[in-house]
Amino acid sequence: MSVHPVVHLVGAGPGDPELLTLKAIRAIRAATVLLVDDLVGAGVLRYARRSARIVNVGKRGGCASTPQAFIEKLMAAEAHKGERVVRLKGGDPFVFGRGGEEAEHLRALGIEVEIVNGITSGLAAATSLGAPLTHRDHAHGVMFVTGHARGEDAALHWPTLAAAAAQGLTLVIYMGVATVESLQQGLLEGLPATTPVAVVQHASLPSQRHLQTTLVDLAAAVRREGLGSPAIIVVGDVLHAAKRMNWGVGDSLAA
Ligand code: SAH
Repeated sequence: MSVHPVVHLVGAGPGDPELLTLKAIRAIRAATVLLVDDLVGAGVLRYARRSARIVNVGKRGGCASTPQAFIEKLMAAEAHKGERVVRLKGGDPFVFGRGGEEAEHLRALGIEVEIVNGITSGLAAATSLGAPLTHRDHAHGVMFVTGHARGEDAALHWPTLAAAAAQGLTLVIYMGVATVESLQQGLLEGLPATTPVAVVQHASLPSQRHLQTTLVDLAAAVRREGLGSPAIIVVGDVLHAAKRMNWGVGDSLAA
């Protein structure tokens, strides 16, 4: 029997299963094999069949990250066998997290790839603070950026982004906590010390914690409060609007 190999690249959203899309639930229910990143909330897997094979390919528990080549090989092999393969990725599959690379690789092997959007953690983090990312009194756009810039771009990265942010663009930074000192230093080259900043860890999950401070205090506050990955950093005056709405943004950690 000839099979028509397909892989579904599915966004699992930021963690809260209620933020899954209907399409994502349908794909998860239909899957016979699921390859799951460590940022996928445990509640999301409730929708998988009991008989489904679930392969954790993240690095939770301190083990080394599963090599990307292994993940791609496994997906391809299972799809060729005729399995209904779902690759579950945190947030949206095409916002960081290598979904684009995986899709290209699979297509090059003649495998059809279907993408299901998810709510990216940057959106969930901002909303959990009541921060309207493009509130028109404060911003005319938003930039989703990584704190993990590649090699030669890194030095220019933050001052350049700060200059753009100063023109009225909200900054939403993924993977920024590990390099928060250099990120803060670079941003201070183009933004006032008093620029409001928020950090949200585990957005949308019961374990969510956040802090709000100003740019000049960012790294110290992250250390003081002990916030770590996975976290989103939001930078910009839209955080003033969040405060005004009084949706729970304070100067200290939320429970
Ligand atoms: N595709 C994902 C991003 C993958 S990169 C998405 O669209 O959200 C991994 C980074 O995403 C983490 O380092 C962290 O910055 C962010 N992240 C993912 N889930 C998160 C969550 N629940 N809360 C805060 N940040 C999260």
